[in-house]
Amino acid sequence: MRAVLPAVSWAFRRTWAMNAPLVSGVLATAFLRNLLPAALVLVARSLINSVSQAVDSGEHVLSSILPLFALGLSASILEVLSRNLGIYFSDRLHDELALRISSDVLEHASQLDVAHFEDPGVQDVIERARQNTAGHFSKFIRGVVDTVASSVQIVSLTVVLIVIEPVVTVLLILFAPLYLLVHSRIAQLRYETERARTTRRRWTSYYVSQLTDRAAIPENRLLDLAPLFVRKFGVLMAGFRDQNRILQRKGLSARLLFSLLAITAFYGAFAWVIYQAVVGVLEIGDVAVFGVAAFRLPRTIESVVLTATHALEHSLYITNLMEFLAVRPRIVSGSRPIPTPTGGAIEIRHVTFRYPGTDQPVLRGVSLELRAGETVAIVGENGAGKTTLVKLLARFYDPDEGVIRLDGVDLREFSLADLYRTVSFVFQAFNRFEATAAENIAFGSWRVLLDDRAKVEEIARRAGVDAIVDPLPRGYDTHLGRKFGEITLSQGQWQKIAIARAIARDAALLVLDEPTASLDAETEHQIFSQFREIAAGRTCIVISHRFSTVRMADRIAVMGGGRIVELGTHDELVARGGRYARLYDLHKAGGAAVAAET
Ligand code: ADP
Repeated sequence: MRAVLPAVSWAFRRTWAMNAPLVSGVLATAFLRNLLPAALVLVARSLINSVSQAVDSGEHVLSSILPLFALGLSASILEVLSRNLGIYFSDRLHDELALRISSDVLEHASQLDVAHFEDPGVQDVIERARQNTAGHFSKFIRGVVDTVASSVQIVSLTVVLIVIEPVVTVLLILFAPLYLLVHSRIAQLRYETERARTTRRRWTSYYVSQLTDRAAIPENRLLDLAPLFVRKFGVLMAGFRDQNRILQRKGLSARLLFSLLAITAFYGAFAWVIYQAVVGVLEIGDVAVFGVAAFRLPRTIESVVLTATHALEHSLYITNLMEFLAVRPRIVSGSRPIPTPTGGAIEIRHVTFRYPGTDQPVLRGVSLELRAGETVAIVGENGAGKTTLVKLLARFYDPDEGVIRLDGVDLREFSLADLYRTVSFVFQAFNRFEATAAENIAFGSWRVLLDDRAKVEEIARRAGVDAIVDPLPRGYDTHLGRKFGEITLSQGQWQKIAIARAIARDAALLVLDEPTASLDAETEHQIFSQFREIAAGRTCIVISHRFSTVRMADRIAVMGGGRIVELGTHDELVARGGRYARLYDLHKAGGAAVAAET
């Protein structure tokens, strides 16, 4: 309970701040709805006693029956109103919460570091926050309101029963705390079991995506991996089912035991009240009302206990949400704006870096300077650290040691939003957006370009993408991608679109990570003959394995083992006879067929 209470108060403050009138509506109708049964019972009792007296005495006592009748009718109408309004307010609150909480989760996820999405521990936290948190949140609020309000019903019904027959009533409600204890223990077990499943749940999602995602299908089909993955998925799910069965049996036993004890106690008490009436201590109305109220009480207690334990369980999921929202980005924005026009000079000084959660340095004391407007190519074997180095320029990660400066200022001082606007990437694993061709380009600077078709078409022409888009059935309005549309492009065509998107950003620093890997030699030549124009006024970093691309750079940096081992122009490096020269010789010896590759 000590762990749960902060979650309860946090959730209520958040809900209240979101829509106080709606919360008030839910509370008011819940209390009203639960006070009325006791009132109705009292009215019914007086009514029956009056009728019984009228029958006994043979007198017409309409004057005493009618007001009671009217009272009963009004209470019933009020009950119907409060019940239905309660459902309406609750449903509305549920929708408001679902919208707000899921938006909060997504917004917070968008603030987290790239590194968070690579850390298995944080991924578990993210996964738990994704598991229908909004649903749990709203059910929790509803559960707490219902528990409190139904407790009002229990107390009021108990008071009525105590007035009629105190001893047996006390006996009847004695079971309640015991029952609550058992059920809250089961709820906690259920939550702990679910929490311990997080990583296995992520595995099940992984198998689902392997079996249903477009990109994964062809290779898995050919390797006939489906039966294997379905089996692995099935083993995990069967494990969950078996664990659930144990908990379900415990729940069943507890519920059965309570109900049987409650029924026995009820009939015992009822027999006693009937005896009291027969011997003339109680009236006929008391017997009727005791019958109704005492029959209702155990059910109300049972449903309160179940609602309370479910609320308790949902509140444990709220701690998941709190845990997720407490994950704070380590890459924090500086406050300094980046002046426009930006020069674009980059200075990388003694940068050492290891990926979070790993202990092998990927960059070891790298220093490199790029003059504003210069194009530098980075070459080197796979795993040399080329991609990692450029990722640090956009602050996806910060260096462990050393500093990176833009126009003489440490990147960490700048506003992150400004920095993102200043750099433009063509990633190795670039995105293929499910969107129209125009949008796929406009996403490079969507705030400006989504409504500026003429500009998008001009960018497309500059990047040579118009030849891909023009023949499409609806031109720039053709939806690309096969999740929702009919047309997808070839790898190379997508890559050209990605280059167009990068150009659309109008950024001072352009980073192309293997931008020509999927392009045929002719397209590559065409892009790079336009390269000077594309790169004009920008500082460019091109990572490439193709000498035809690399040669166009002003300077070439050769990376190996997390260091820059050679730096110079193509001619200088060839003349130096080092690693670059050896690679170049190999390339020449490869002849025309592999001329494009190293
Ligand atoms: P290159 O671009 O030169 O081929 P990378 O910069 O992609 O090389 O990778 C350099 C090294 O860093 C490799 O050994 C790779 O395994 C490791 N690495 C890359 N990305 C990550 C990551 N997100 N987490 C941990 N290690 C990584």
